[in-house]
Amino acid sequence: MGIIEMHGVTKRYSRGGETLTVLDRLDLVVPEGDFVALMGPSGSGKSTILNLVGGLDAADEGSISVAGLEITSLASSELPHFRARHIGFIFQAFNLVPVLTAWENVMLPLLLTPLDKAGRRKQAEFALEVVGLQDRMHHRPRQLSGGQEQRVAIARALATDPDIILADEPTGDLDRDSANAIMDLLRRLNVELKKTLLVVTHDHVAAERARRVLHLDKGVLAREVRNEAAPLAAPGTAGARGAAPAGGSASGGSGAGPRR
Ligand code: ADP
Ligand code: MG
Repeated sequence: MGIIEMHGVTKRYSRGGETLTVLDRLDLVVPEGDFVALMGPSGSGKSTILNLVGGLDAADEGSISVAGLEITSLASSELPHFRARHIGFIFQAFNLVPVLTAWENVMLPLLLTPLDKAGRRKQAEFALEVVGLQDRMHHRPRQLSGGQEQRVAIARALATDPDIILADEPTGDLDRDSANAIMDLLRRLNVELKKTLLVVTHDHVAAERARRVLHLDKGVLAREVRNEAAPLAAPGTAGARGAAPAGGSASGGSGAGPRR
C-alpha cells in the first residue's frame, strides 16, 4: 500500500458556465520512502494534485488515502490536524511570513501540534540544523537570499516531522546553483530522514534527483521514467517497509517498491 493512494480521482472547475476537467480518473500510488518528481505542461493539474493530497482542495470523485487515512471523508475541521501530522508544504514563492524571523516562521506550524514549549523548540532547532541555517535564525526573510528563504521554508515544512513533503516548483524562483542546492537538500530529506517526497517541477535537471519522474498531460499520467541512478534509502528504512506489492505505480508498471 502506498503512503499516498489516489484512485479514480476526478477534479473539475467551473469557469464562466464552462466545466473544466482538470484531473480525469487519475490513479497515483506513491510508496512510503519514494521521491517522485511530477512534470507536465502548465495547466495540466500538477498543483491540483498536491492540493488534493494535502487536503487543501476536495476531489469531485474518487478516493485519496494519505498515510492510511481516507482524506476525502475527513471533516474540514480535521484537516489542519491531519496536515500538521503528515504533510509539509514547500512553495515556489517560499511563502514565509515577512515580519517574522526564520525561527518564528519555523515555529509557526508547531503551534498546531500537541508539543509543549520545550518540544517545539527542540523540533525547530532540529529543522534549522538540517537545512544549515542555525546562524541565520534571527534574520527576517528579506535579509536572506532566495536560496536561504527556501531553506527556511523547508525547515518550516520539516518542523512537525511529517512523513510526506509536497513541493510545488520549489526551485522555480531560484538561480541554477541555488536550485541545485535545494534539490540536493530535498534528496537528503528522502535518503537520510526517510521522507516521502512529491515534487512538482519544470526543471529536468532538478527532476534528476528524484527516483521516479511522472509526466502529467491533460489530467492523466502519460508516462513514468525511473531514475536508477538516484540513491536508495539505507536498508531497513521506511522505503523498505513500503515495498509492498509491485505494480502499484501510476502507470501500473514495473513495481513500485525499492529497487535493490
Ligand atoms: P499546473 O500546476 O499543472 O500548472 P493547476 O493544477 O494549477 O495546473 O491547474 C490546472 C487547471 O485548473 C488550470 O487550467 C487552472 O486554470 C485550473 N484551475 C486551478 N485552480 C482553479 C480554481 N480554483 N478555479 C478554477 N480553475 C482552476
Ligand atoms: Mg502549478
